[in-house]
Amino acid sequence: MTVDVEYDYETEKSDSVPLIVPRLLDYFRKKKITATFFVLGKIAEKYPAIVKDVAKEHEVASHCYDHVALSSLSIPEQENQLRKGKKAIEDLGIECNGVRAPYYMIEKNHFTLVKKVGFRYDSSISTFFPGRYAHMPQSKPFIREMVVEIPVPNWLPFFPPAGLSYYRFFYPLSKAFQLPSMIYLHPCEFMDAPITKELPRIIRNAYARNQGEKAWKIFTDLIERSDCEWKSCREYVKSLPSFRM
Ligand SMILES: [Zn+2]
Repeated sequence: MTVDVEYDYETEKSDSVPLIVPRLLDYFRKKKITATFFVLGKIAEKYPAIVKDVAKEHEVASHCYDHVALSSLSIPEQENQLRKGKKAIEDLGIECNGVRAPYYMIEKNHFTLVKKVGFRYDSSISTFFPGRYAHMPQSKPFIREMVVEIPVPNWLPFFPPAGLSYYRFFYPLSKAFQLPSMIYLHPCEFMDAPITKELPRIIRNAYARNQGEKAWKIFTDLIERSDCEWKSCREYVKSLPSFRM
């Protein structure tokens, strides 16, 4: 179970972190779910108390410092994003072992940098749009440069999508989807706020579909029909026999 905690890029004048993160914490506690919250460095600086609350029961990992595509940056800038994002969380006294790149956009040198900065695992590969996601349409976890990669399965044959956004977009058809092995969602999906006009209309319509309380219902229904134990990435990595964290 993963939550990407960032600014509300898709909605106008909304700030979902103080409203939605506590709601997720309550729900996860009730359902005995442990999650990884990939927190943007700037959000860790803005909401230190909320991030510390998350860390009491869940894993806090990094979503880099700014929400910029690493693939658009030079290698020293990429390293800086990874390092600053990790430090923003560690400055709160929280251990930070994992990272997820914004937009899942990484370069081929990504694992070298992730290891150099001191992360133990990465979750930055998605199987949708292979060109965009570093040409690595992997769906099963693997180890590279001593870093565990936990890919995000999206639309490979026989792999159900991991993003709540797809379940929202295709609802009610998505009720028939297989359950994913990983979920990722964003707090702002649960906000009933207007979608920012800066986005192209087609994207705006996609984001607006089943947002807010409808998104909450789709998400909680998905959890209700699952009969597995939802865990954090840290717990998953710890369970790998060849890798101790
Ligand atoms: Zn993000």
